[in-house]
Amino acid sequence: MMKLIIAWLRKDGSCRRWTNSKPHEHAAMSLNVYADAMKRLGKEWKCSAYEAAETVNKFFKSKENQTNADRIRSMTDEELAEFYTKFCACAVCEYKDEERDTCGAPTGFLCTKTYAKTIILDWLKTLA
Ligand SMILES: [Zn+2]
Repeated sequence: MMKLIIAWLRKDGSCRRWTNSKPHEHAAMSLNVYADAMKRLGKEWKCSAYEAAETVNKFFKSKENQTNADRIRSMTDEELAEFYTKFCACAVCEYKDEERDTCGAPTGFLCTKTYAKTIILDWLKTLA
């Protein structure tokens, strides 16, 4: 059976992937695609494929230790507008109910008012 990897690049830069391959086949196909991409980037950036790979790795390393605050600071105006539309202390509080997309804090627990600043400050310092 032919093995495939399908990747969708969304407008926001996130990527969805699907494959019917085994892990080692997945790795072999991915590394081939990666090598091709570095060659193409090298051509575009007028450097070697190896240098292009180093630049890409540096970029990912800089993203590795990024906090939520760092991530927000680097957002575009459009991303900020979307972020603020959805954000409140309960979006990041410890009682957040992911399934129902609501705050699951006990009734009377005022995380949005009494502890909002602390909750948000803790979240901003957390790695994204
Ligand atoms: Zn909450």
